[in-house]
Amino acid sequence: MTAASTLASTPTENIAKIVGDVGAAFRTGKTLPIEWRKEQLRQVFRMLDVHEKDFQESLFLDMGKIKLEAQLFEMGMLKNDIIHMLTELDNWLAPEAVSVPEPYQHWSPTVHKQPKGTCLIISPWNFPITLTVLPLIANIASGNTVIMKPSELAPHTAAKLTELLPKYVDPECFQFVNGDKDQVTELLKHPYGHIIYTGNGQIGSIVMAAAAKHLTPVTLELGGKSPAIVSDKANLALAAKRITWGKFFNAGQVCMCPDYALVQEDMLPKFLEELKKTFADTYGDDASGKISRIINNRHWNRLDTLLANSKGKIFFGGNRSESELYIEPTVITDICLGDSLLSDEIFGPILPILTYKTLPEAVQIIAKISEEPLGLYIFTEDTAESDFIRKNTRSGGMAINDAMGHVAVPSLAFGGIGGSGMGTYRGRAGVDTFSHRKSVATVPTTEEFEGLLEWRYAVPSGDREE
Ligand code: NAD
Repeated sequence: MTAASTLASTPTENIAKIVGDVGAAFRTGKTLPIEWRKEQLRQVFRMLDVHEKDFQESLFLDMGKIKLEAQLFEMGMLKNDIIHMLTELDNWLAPEAVSVPEPYQHWSPTVHKQPKGTCLIISPWNFPITLTVLPLIANIASGNTVIMKPSELAPHTAAKLTELLPKYVDPECFQFVNGDKDQVTELLKHPYGHIIYTGNGQIGSIVMAAAAKHLTPVTLELGGKSPAIVSDKANLALAAKRITWGKFFNAGQVCMCPDYALVQEDMLPKFLEELKKTFADTYGDDASGKISRIINNRHWNRLDTLLANSKGKIFFGGNRSESELYIEPTVITDICLGDSLLSDEIFGPILPILTYKTLPEAVQIIAKISEEPLGLYIFTEDTAESDFIRKNTRSGGMAINDAMGHVAVPSLAFGGIGGSGMGTYRGRAGVDTFSHRKSVATVPTTEEFEGLLEWRYAVPSGDREE
């Protein structure tokens, strides 16, 4: 089945009407009651639960995504986040009193969270359910109506979501536009309450430029080269196991997976030994049934070229088959700065390993490769070392002694910095991003207070003349 026959594109001439309809649905006010929002969230949970197998199938058709990965980072993560949101939503949406100096204490200054209106979600192919539904649930919780534009590169999953979601949630408030850049270009001609785009930075700047014309606020969830530092004070066996898991999950097509490892040079032989053991335990003689596939031939060829141009040495792996869109989990050593594998984000199952002597040198190497990655990982048993790295590097998020561990926590905001993105969402941060914080003061009307305000009306005699 071709992508085109799997997923029907929305005719671009229909998009203005869809934007108008979803805007009109917002203006009915039906998203305002918190109980209505909670019921929509429960319905998203039901959809994920009832159709887990359908989604697994579509993810497999799109990228050979293995079942455990689909359960963990797609349906499982979303269901957890929905439960967390349902548990906390009343607190997060409650009006917030602010502390104030005299004489404003009697003005009841309060921040009220209000929906922003109709929001646009533009999502990529690597986690096609999570990266559409995670911002959707934050928007539902915030009382917005939403237009979703899933990635055309995961057409089976986009088609499945487009078919199933309207059966569970309000079909007027939450609608899909499918297609490619033509549909995105058309969508971006309109103003929104907020746009969240997840994908590569080049398109991120196109989205931001288009949003600027309408002064629409944006959240950009981008990528980058996230390092995994392995110190001489690390538990090496655990570091090898966790980096292997994080790097080769979804065949390395994860925005915050370790892009490369930076190993303290005295530890390299031992670390490679541990990696070898982990690979034997994880993949045995043949990894092909245990790793997801590369999304398409274009990306497979991109990775093939990166490998072919690298001056590094294949420590293990390297087998690949274009017809199966397969790349064996591959580890490359003897890498120097300037190597093809250190230029752009790899986004595939290839782990280059570099070495460093001291942590300050590691910080310098990271800054040369990509100053502000989305994730940063340090493996060490010494908190002074992890503190040093936390303070001396900038990254969207960070996990100590794990790869991507911070993303498991639904109450930790997710987002990048600099080239890896702007803005955050997830949990409370999602509600804060997609809600407007309206400042409200109730000014007393008693005579006593009016007496206190008297000074602001009168212009002291003579002032005007001077
Ligand atoms: P993609 O090709 O699916 O594109 C993302 C979206 O942009 C799609 O909906 C697509 O239709 C749209 N698009 C593509 N070209 C366009 C154009 N010229 N004009 C307007 N819209 C266009 O996905 P991708 O960009 O290949 O995704 C991979 C990238 O996303 C990686 O860099 C990865 O690190 C990043 N990513 C970031 C996160 C995060 O949360 N920070 C998560 C996943 C992926």
